[in-house]
Amino acid sequence: MFLPKIREITEALRSLFTPAFTTKYPLKPYIAHDEYRGFPKYYEEECVGCGTCVQVCPTSAIEIIDDKQKGVRKLVLDYTSCSQCGQCEEKCITDKGIKLSSEYVLSVTDLKAPEVYETVEKDLAVCEACGDVIACRDHLLFVKERLGAKAYAHPNFLIETQRQFAEVKPSSIKDKIRREDLIKEVCPVCRHKTVVNDEF
Ligand code: SF4
Ligand code: SF4
Repeated sequence: MFLPKIREITEALRSLFTPAFTTKYPLKPYIAHDEYRGFPKYYEEECVGCGTCVQVCPTSAIEIIDDKQKGVRKLVLDYTSCSQCGQCEEKCITDKGIKLSSEYVLSVTDLKAPEVYETVEKDLAVCEACGDVIACRDHLLFVKERLGAKAYAHPNFLIETQRQFAEVKPSSIKDKIRREDLIKEVCPVCRHKTVVNDEF
């Protein structure tokens, strides 16, 4: 009866003269471990805009917005929907386009605040015939590297390679798609038409 009280008083006295075990968060932010699974960040130089991270995200936290007029693809990641599962990092085709950071704090009063979103923008290649999206330019170059010499059999890869070194303006298609359009940068549907519907 009496002994437990002595033990509690002893512990209370000891705690008065020992440092606190708890952290002083948020006055002193806690530094997460390097391996902590925090919010994902895009790395523009390494991302090719393929959209795989959008496909594999289990919470649909990432949205693709294609602006065909400006020729730009924007990937927008909403941190309020992100569960920090790491699927986007694991399945990224370049292995370096998106990585989980060790940042974990998201405290905002406005859900439209810029810090709620992580974005990356990539240039789009659009079909010179119908204006539909083919892929991001960096994605085409990434695939070209993987294919090696075989890539030069495909005009889209050739044209993107030229664009790496010089300005190549998109050519306009005449009244209808023709055999000559085979060597233009066109989508698979229009490329098919150049072969099937050509009246040469
Ligand atoms: S960490 Fe998971 S939930 Fe968050 S964006 Fe990546 S795939 Fe989606
Ligand atoms: S390269 Fe990686 S980060 Fe970029 S869109 Fe593709 S999967 Fe996402």
